[in-house]
Amino acid sequence: MSHTKLYLNMKKLALLFGLFFSLFLMAQKKYVVVIHGGAGTIIREKMSPELEEEYLEKLTEALQKAYTEIKNGKTSVEAVEAAIVVMEDSPLFNAGKGAVFTHDGKNELDAAIMNGKDKKAGSIAGVHTIKNPIKAAIAVMEKSEHVMLSGNGAEQFAKLQGLEIVNPKYFWTENRWKSLQKAKELEKLKNPKAEDSKPDYFIVDQKFGTVGCVALDQFGNLAAGTSTGGMTNKKYGRIGDAPIIGAGTYADENVGISATGWGEFFIRSTAARTIAAKIQYLNKDVKTAAEETIDEIEKMGGDGGLIALDKNGNFAMPFNTSGMYRGAITEDGEIEVEIYK
Ligand code: ASP
Repeated sequence: MSHTKLYLNMKKLALLFGLFFSLFLMAQKKYVVVIHGGAGTIIREKMSPELEEEYLEKLTEALQKAYTEIKNGKTSVEAVEAAIVVMEDSPLFNAGKGAVFTHDGKNELDAAIMNGKDKKAGSIAGVHTIKNPIKAAIAVMEKSEHVMLSGNGAEQFAKLQGLEIVNPKYFWTENRWKSLQKAKELEKLKNPKAEDSKPDYFIVDQKFGTVGCVALDQFGNLAAGTSTGGMTNKKYGRIGDAPIIGAGTYADENVGISATGWGEFFIRSTAARTIAAKIQYLNKDVKTAAEETIDEIEKMGGDGGLIALDKNGNFAMPFNTSGMYRGAITEDGEIEVEIYK
């Protein structure tokens, strides 16, 4: 075979390969928004079909809102905000309206946002009057020179930014109030010397219900956000993993992560940043990185779950509890929502 012929054949082969490769890529689904509504002991037999439907509908609504933002050319931060606001406004989730109670009978909210594009971040912790904590976290990121604000100061800042401030009573819901009473009853029965027993709020309120979202916009940028009421019966101004950048929330140019579960373990394992580091330094795929991190948390004695979305639209949703409210939407608008394992 002459050199010219060989060259032409090689060229044809390369073109063919290119074509197959593009078709392969087109066949791969690309996800643009992934959400969670908390992980915990969510048992099918204990859930009424009506309640299950309500959860699935709310998750779908949150995904659709975020997807509309992405389709309209908005940023991943705007998409995350849109999804989280839907869940914060619903009493179903432990965030915003449906937040759990502290030992003192208050609702103390935490939230965070991180923009993968420039690694800017904002978070708020321990607030009682901000209707949508995720909006306050975004305002901290965009309009302050700080990353994390807490308590009264955070509330003052939110007010100055023109965010909606509500009477703390807005967050009162009967279900969460009952959970607190149950937790307190159990606490009274507890042997104070029992060392490794789980905190009582874990025994009664395992449907944690924190909410989170990660989004990938048309410019290829990722963002992650998380919002929560924390854990039932929490004391002494306890702050969980959600507002801690690198623990419950993180985003960089490769991946966005939002976690839910027993916050203390996500803080101690720097869960979200660990996933990003596994991808950045060890070239791990998002699924492996996310699963390894949840396995590590399990080994430490913790539980929960997380969502992680990479820059190519691949995602993972590992959890080691019986369920996690979760969902994802592709760039074609195809929606998947699930609750159980
Ligand atoms: N991670 C949250 C916290 O520890 C709780 C949850 O996910 O429901 O504050």
